Amino acid sequence: MNNIDLTQAVEALIKFRSERDWSKFHTPKNLSMSIAIEASELMEHFQWKNEDEVNQYLSIPENLEKVKEEIADILSYLLLLSTDLKIDLNRTLLDKIQKNSEKYPVSKCKGKSAKYNEL
Ligand SMILES: [Mg+2]
Repeated sequence: MNNIDLTQAVEALIKFRSERDWSKFHTPKNLSMSIAIEASELMEHFQWKNEDEVNQYLSIPENLEKVKEEIADILSYLLLLSTDLKIDLNRTLLDKIQKNSEKYPVSKCKGKSAKYNEL
């Protein structure tokens, strides 16, 4: 199981940003765009590869390290945005899982990939 206590990481992120006086650039617009840009960088690692090629790619430690860095970039911007907006990420995630549970009842969607309005 992942250790998801990110308190220390958030403190380090805020310190990193403050020391560089970068918070003035970290508007919700810029942070949300940065999340999408970093997600694209993550996707670049898998673009044009089939499932076997992706697995082969990820079996090489240097490649996995690069993928981990993109995941960290995405998470960094997500944590900064949610911190700035005073969003309780744990509560928000639990609430969203509950909403999705109602949207996608097991009885209707188990083993299916259809969108909720097509179940
Ligand atoms: Mg990156």
